[in-house]
Amino acid sequence: MDMRRDPAPAPAAQEAPPSRAQAIAQVAAYLNDSGVEATQAQDDARALLRAAAGLSRLELAMSPQAPISDEEADRLSRLAARRAAREPVSRILGERGFWTLDLVVSPHVLDPRADTETLVETTLALVDKSDAPLAILDLGAGSGAITCALLSELPMAHAVAVDLSPFACAATAENLARCGLSDRATVVRGRWGESLAGPFDVIVSNPPYVRAGDIPALDPEVRLYDPALALDGGRDGLACYREIVSDLSRLLKPDGLVAFEVGCDQAVSVASLLGAKGFAIARVGRDAGGHERVVAARPA
Ligand code: GLN
Repeated sequence: MDMRRDPAPAPAAQEAPPSRAQAIAQVAAYLNDSGVEATQAQDDARALLRAAAGLSRLELAMSPQAPISDEEADRLSRLAARRAAREPVSRILGERGFWTLDLVVSPHVLDPRADTETLVETTLALVDKSDAPLAILDLGAGSGAITCALLSELPMAHAVAVDLSPFACAATAENLARCGLSDRATVVRGRWGESLAGPFDVIVSNPPYVRAGDIPALDPEVRLYDPALALDGGRDGLACYREIVSDLSRLLKPDGLVAFEVGCDQAVSVASLLGAKGFAIARVGRDAGGHERVVAARPA
């Protein structure tokens, strides 16, 4: 898609360059034609125009009728083509807002989702927020979104963030540094908690939970751009929960808290895996769409 006016038109016929608002409308229509839902396409077009023209939200809101330059139009065309190939805006821009933080999104980690803020919120509602020096363990830390959000809210807490992927470990470390939290976290490469002794006050995890057979039907934004390692939860989607739950009593303090993000139809299954290992459900948290998204439990 070429956002520029026609090259070298006769002076009398010269078209005005498109305004910011017109460029947004054109990109939104193009994205919608490429399969991006209409409201999302509008939001994405606005975000891409802002990136292409280096504008804050306020600058765009104040002057939507200002013309875009040819350079901005070129940049916008390139960004729009990537989004039309269904790459998420967060990956195109390399960052996304999560909780109160601006995180780097590397190609090697799950793009942090609003759903995962429900895990942060539920955990914060259940932990001791006095000045207790909580020890937190994040299993499968990915971008480090959960660790960064919890540490940002719990100033006395320390965290160990574990991931199997060395690239994810690097992403977690980068986000901790970006948020000024590196001095309260240790990043460990490993399989769940197997190399750790604990015990921890809080264990959180957003493990891969998509049924392997469901992966081909995921939206292209997820299927093509999130790493398979971060999605694939085995045949029934519950393989990682089973593995983590079997080691929990070794890793968690007797008065500790475990909180999992779960797929939208998995809360009952994950609660029963926990129940079978002697945990009592403390809370089930719902995401913005009303789905049961988080299961939190304590040793019974
Ligand atoms: N929430 C992701 C999805 O889009 C899956 C994340 C995960 O498996 N933990 O389905």
